[in-house]
Amino acid sequence: MGQKGRSIVKMDVDELINLLNKALSDEWLAYYQYWIGAKVVKGPMKDAVIAELTLHATEELGHAELLATRIIQLGGTPVLSPVEWSKLTNCGYDVPSDPYVGVILDQNIKGEQCAIKVYSELLDITRVGDPVTYNFILQILSDEVEHEEDLSSLKEDMELMLERRS
Ligand code: FE
Ligand code: FE
Ligand code: MG
Repeated sequence: MGQKGRSIVKMDVDELINLLNKALSDEWLAYYQYWIGAKVVKGPMKDAVIAELTLHATEELGHAELLATRIIQLGGTPVLSPVEWSKLTNCGYDVPSDPYVGVILDQNIKGEQCAIKVYSELLDITRVGDPVTYNFILQILSDEVEHEEDLSSLKEDMELMLERRS
């Protein structure tokens, strides 16, 4: 922990670390949801969907990296056990038990919309009190906005293709 770096934070640091650990749990669950979704998905445009899901998985892992880095800078401990993820998560985990592309895309779009809400609230909370965390969260939120749009446009293309065929 950097003493001076922590001391300039003008908000409850323990509460902030707790919120960052909740987001970190979301990111690990999102990583796995994308990763396993890419393995099991079936249906039209499967290859394009697999490529996007796989890329998003690596980007969620990058978000976990950013959050863990910031938690450590603040003197906190990143969540140590996967058992904690399902207790701390904001956005939960949608089991991809139906492998159809449309269903997998909908589940992940829902997850991105939840992530956008969570990070948007974290920006509001940190805007004044902790500009460094604000900057970390802004990077992550920009990716989540991109993710939602990527998946929505894939879904739209898939629906257009199916309409034209029928
Ligand atoms: Fe993420
Ligand atoms: Fe995302
Ligand atoms: Mg993408």
